Amino acid sequence: MTDRSGWISRLGPRARVAFGRPGNPCVAVAPGRVNLIGEHTDYNDGWVLPMAIDRQVGVAAFPRDDGMLRAHSVVFGETREIRLDDLAPPFRAEWIDYVGGMAWALISAGYPIVGADLVVDGDVPLGSGLSSSAAVEMATARALCGISGIDWDPVTMALLGQKTEWEYIGVKGGVMDQFTATMARGGHAMLLDCRTLETSLVLFPDNVVVVVLDTGASRSLAGSAYNERSASCREAVTLLQSVKPEIRALRDVDLDLLEKGRDQLDATAYRRARHVVGEIRRPRLMAKALAGSDLEEAGRLMNESHTSLRELYEVSSFELDLFTDLARSHPGCYGARLTGAGFGGCAIALVKADDAGDFMNTVHTEYRAQTNLQSSVFAVRADSGARLLDGVEV
Ligand code: ADP
Ligand code: MG
Repeated sequence: MTDRSGWISRLGPRARVAFGRPGNPCVAVAPGRVNLIGEHTDYNDGWVLPMAIDRQVGVAAFPRDDGMLRAHSVVFGETREIRLDDLAPPFRAEWIDYVGGMAWALISAGYPIVGADLVVDGDVPLGSGLSSSAAVEMATARALCGISGIDWDPVTMALLGQKTEWEYIGVKGGVMDQFTATMARGGHAMLLDCRTLETSLVLFPDNVVVVVLDTGASRSLAGSAYNERSASCREAVTLLQSVKPEIRALRDVDLDLLEKGRDQLDATAYRRARHVVGEIRRPRLMAKALAGSDLEEAGRLMNESHTSLRELYEVSSFELDLFTDLARSHPGCYGARLTGAGFGGCAIALVKADDAGDFMNTVHTEYRAQTNLQSSVFAVRADSGARLLDGVEV
């Protein structure tokens, strides 16, 4: 793969200086992602429609033969050392844990990885809901497999990334982030069935762009709300089983069944389930709309998703509502919605490519006039999953 973003020339010299090593390191990248639609559907066995973005984490790796893993983070400005034969889950989320956790997951699965000197850098905003953590995991895995001569299997590696987050870091998320970081293709969104793990690519029309609207508001409530929402979904499934015993997840529930079982649920559990049952249909509808270049319909689905997340799932915020309202009032915008767990983080808008510049200026200026947050607005293009880069260093 050629190195359009210049990772080889950015990371190569750093790796030589940080570790005093001559020659060219192996360089891998993995992308962040936006979820176009299908929010809070992954842990309900539903569909999601993410798109990898041209914001990436890059990892440069030199092999070592002594079982040590030394890693330097450009973002955090520090170097950490760990022994590959002495890795145990710390249930902590420091940057080194995403690197060490990936090595641990590879070793636990029997992959004979060698020691390494690594430099890690990236331009996926950290902790904004654009999945920088999965990008670190998958770029690390790709680089470690590269220097260890291990064949790259995207599905297995994505599942090992999820294992890292569950069992090493202690964050129990779905598979969407890691699957997108390995399986995505440039120019496409990716429909993922979170029950069967089947993926299909959806060509992204080239006359529109996705604009990320980063509210700058922290996602501090997101963790507890996430657990509360997923518990509510499990409760709804248990109660609805009295109407239809064979259902396993809200994916198996349609609107008819939900209405039949409505008396079994309290008002909150009903609203949560109502969001999920509606939202689970939207990724496939949006995939169809994008494939047919029906951008009005794609935008309508995004707006509908946002309303459902705000009114029924109750995970929006003042800032997310403000940004999406401002976005929708621009004539170049087809639709806008929060993306990720909610309570801060990012929204996305689907915008006519020709209007993107004016859209970004106008919407950001208006948002800034009403908040004092460190917000940012940028357009993204559909990128490919984790890969090794080759090319001539400068
Ligand atoms: P998200 O995945 O939504 O961005 P997370 O909280 O899951 O948010 O992951 C963010 C964490 O991932 C950061 O706090 C940091 O530990 C790690 N991380 C992300 N990007 C980098 C990077 N470029 N260098 C080092 N660590 C990173
Ligand atoms: Mg993450």
